[in-house]
Amino acid sequence: MSDPQQDYDELKAAGLTLDLTRGKPSSAQLDLAAPMLDLPGSELVRAADGSDTRNYGNVAGLPELRALFAPFLQVPVAQLIASNNSSLELMHDTLVHALLSPLPGAPVRWADAGRVAFLAPVPGYDRHFAVCERLGIDLVSVPMTADGPDMDEVERLVADDPSIKGIWCVPKYSNPDGAVYSDEVVRRLAAMPTAAPDFRIMWDNAYSVHHLTEEEPELADVLALAAEAGNPDRPFVFGSTSKITFAGAGVAFLGASEANVAWWLTLTEKRTIGPDKINQRRHALFLRDGDGLRAHMAAHRELIAPKFAVVEKLLTDAFADTPGVSWTTPKGGYFVALTVPDGLASQVVALAKDAGIVLTPAGATHPYGKDPHDALIRLAPTLPPLADVEGAMAGVVTCVRLALARAGTR
Ligand code: PLP
Repeated sequence: MSDPQQDYDELKAAGLTLDLTRGKPSSAQLDLAAPMLDLPGSELVRAADGSDTRNYGNVAGLPELRALFAPFLQVPVAQLIASNNSSLELMHDTLVHALLSPLPGAPVRWADAGRVAFLAPVPGYDRHFAVCERLGIDLVSVPMTADGPDMDEVERLVADDPSIKGIWCVPKYSNPDGAVYSDEVVRRLAAMPTAAPDFRIMWDNAYSVHHLTEEEPELADVLALAAEAGNPDRPFVFGSTSKITFAGAGVAFLGASEANVAWWLTLTEKRTIGPDKINQRRHALFLRDGDGLRAHMAAHRELIAPKFAVVEKLLTDAFADTPGVSWTTPKGGYFVALTVPDGLASQVVALAKDAGIVLTPAGATHPYGKDPHDALIRLAPTLPPLADVEGAMAGVVTCVRLALARAGTR
């Protein structure tokens, strides 16, 4: 076995500049949707219902695009809204609306409710946490399992504390650990008794069609289960085409009960006279239907699955027998979560940085940027070309080996 310090010195001397930080699509992936830029063309600016997409109006979005995405997001078309390009924006605005105007079933608006807290399954998505931090909503960590959040802990926390008003969920190919929520977890989330009558699930189904294998798991239907359990207003479902068409120019969706949707539309009509329906029309013409969407996602998979395979191979070659080092092998989504022995994650990230490899800061996957174990590193292999993913991961392996060697000699 080569000397970890010497390997690291050589890595540094190589003067790399590589980046495995954000889960962005690569240029090749964005190119898949390039023909969309020629749509709708001046002839096709009328939507399927004859309305003129260039004009004001239709805050709920184009019905044909809502119909296309409804089955994939498991929301009835009438309860699915198509908006502008960012689902994060919809999540942010929904929480702002809840602070300023009482949600259906809420005794008061959250701004007048005293403490407001959300459960944050960890590891999780840093931008969810940032929205809460920005809005003064406290975050309470709950551990993730391979099947979703630890439901015993979730049920215990929400049962007695009315200040816990919600939970963040990325139910399919979770960011960053790739977990797919089991039917049982979805059922329990939908049905659990909560002390807060206005408890909400922020169901961020960002990776609903982003498969990396032939398997195409389907989630239990959270809206239907919540309605059956007598909690129809509990889930807010979100999704977008950011990682289907263009990350900066896609279409985002919000789905919920009729009451939630009516509440949301009334408030949203105060801030806009309608979304960009030309872009929605462009998406409907380009993706066409469910088969068109599936075929497009298969083309993405061909481009990114080899990058995930490289990550898996290099980690397996280096650490298959190393105690304390483990990683996820996601079947979809955009991330791999690498776990190193407690206390080493920030050191690995710092070593990588000094060698020109930028990794997501250790702790970013936890509320307030603090991983109490300092053990988790989020890897995002989609953006760089395959050869760069290989180079960066070889570097990450070297950094982990050096950190392990140093820890062993402490
Ligand atoms: N939700 C999750 C779980 C994500 O990982 C991301 C982007 O990485 C987003 C939302 C951002 O979505 P959008 O581009 O629709 O704002």
